Amino acid sequence: MDLDRRQFLKLSGAGAGGFLVTGRFKPESLARAPLKTFTLHKKVGETVSICAYCAGGCGILVGREGNKVVSIEGNPDHPINRGALCSKAQSLFQLRTVGDEDNPRRLTKVLYRPPNGSVWEEKSWDWALTEIARRIKTTRDAGFVEKDAGGATVNRTEAIAHLGGTALDNEECYVLGKMVRALGIVYLDHQARI
Ligand code: SF4
Repeated sequence: MDLDRRQFLKLSGAGAGGFLVTGRFKPESLARAPLKTFTLHKKVGETVSICAYCAGGCGILVGREGNKVVSIEGNPDHPINRGALCSKAQSLFQLRTVGDEDNPRRLTKVLYRPPNGSVWEEKSWDWALTEIARRIKTTRDAGFVEKDAGGATVNRTEAIAHLGGTALDNEECYVLGKMVRALGIVYLDHQARI
């Protein structure tokens, strides 16, 4: 039978109405649908872990063959996510660290592209950390505000903003919070909020 979209909607609406009128439709039956089972074709080790992306702390199951990660999925026994994972966690598989062949696009070195440059240069971590510290100091000193327009002491910089990330854990957030406030940074926000 050929149906256009309008006819299809009419027919499916009538079908659903029929279920409701005759009382055959029981919403609770949806929740009682039997669990699907999948046959495993090979044995994999399973490690219980926690998603690394945000403070939600969702549980994951990491499947591995030897030292190689072969799957990452939500842990159905975990009380927070009960097997579900958000879209960020769906990409956890790309964080695998065993060998470049797992994710050849994963960056393992510092790459720097200078202002107006078009080429990424490989740098050391020492160079990167020193450069970041130097730029923070220069920017803070150049824009430091000791007193506001009313003469009140504020000791702040309005030239730097700080954006937190969901991969940070409690301890990192604590130390970072201390650092940004010691620097006088007042523009604080978080990736999860924006
Ligand atoms: S990133 Fe998603 S899956 Fe991971 S802890 Fe946060 S909410 Fe849970």
